[in-house]
Amino acid sequence: MESILKGKTVVVTGAGRGIGQAIASLCAQKGANIAVPFVGPYPTEAIEEFRGYGVKAEAYECDVADFAVTKTVCDKILEDFGTVDSLVNNAGITADKLILSMGESDFDKVIAVNLKGAFNMIKHLTRNFMRNGGAIVNISSVVGLMGNAGQANYSASKAGLIGLTKTVARELASRNVTCNAVAPGFIDTAMTAALTPAQQDAIKKQIPLGYIGKPDDVARAVVFFLENRYVSGEVIKVDGGMYI
Ligand code: NAD
Repeated sequence: MESILKGKTVVVTGAGRGIGQAIASLCAQKGANIAVPFVGPYPTEAIEEFRGYGVKAEAYECDVADFAVTKTVCDKILEDFGTVDSLVNNAGITADKLILSMGESDFDKVIAVNLKGAFNMIKHLTRNFMRNGGAIVNISSVVGLMGNAGQANYSASKAGLIGLTKTVARELASRNVTCNAVAPGFIDTAMTAALTPAQQDAIKKQIPLGYIGKPDDVARAVVFFLENRYVSGEVIKVDGGMYI
């Protein structure tokens, strides 16, 4: 069966690597054109991978935490692609510290990228979505639901994303726009590779399925939301049963 994503345009923030790359790749395999706001080095390998599926794929330098920059980039994406059908707010950072040593800037920068970044992107694409309908998926985290020592900033940003998701779902439903969240547990990416083997073993003990997930596990949940037009305001955990 042909996917409804075929010929559509999907924006996936931070899709140059990790979970975002897996999400954009699965969308491209289903025939979607891909736009990638990114920071850091140009994501050559990822963009070439997406184009390899015969779709249009472009990357745009864009710090999602910057309101003005995201406006310029969203306008440019709309100009280049004609319209945007789906937005996946995947870009995210960590700056883990126990609350006693967490500084103001550690808190502010994580909230700015993870939470305000999603707001910025949604805000600048809302007028377009209100005209044509659309699907928004925010990448939250199980720690936004359960908390995690050392991640006051990160878990607050990810919990905030769930409130944002439910509000946007309510506000835009009458315009045929859905908004959902995916809350991954531990997924094998650069973010988790930074953990020591001892930390990884301790994590596996908390996961009933007994192993760390793959970016594709998250990508399949995101695509479920992008393809299913009758689900909105929902949060799916992709965590091997870590938070039941
Ligand atoms: P990653 O570090 O590999 O990828 C994050 C991406 O976001 C990178 O491409 C990075 O360049 C981009 N990014 C960072 N700051 C940005 C900014 N200001 N503007 C634009 N792009 C920016 O991490 P990942 O593991 O692939 O994580 C992807 C998402 O999944 C994040 O939101 C993360 O919080 C979430 N998540 C990851 C895990 C996990 O175990 N890996 C678990 C739960 C949630």
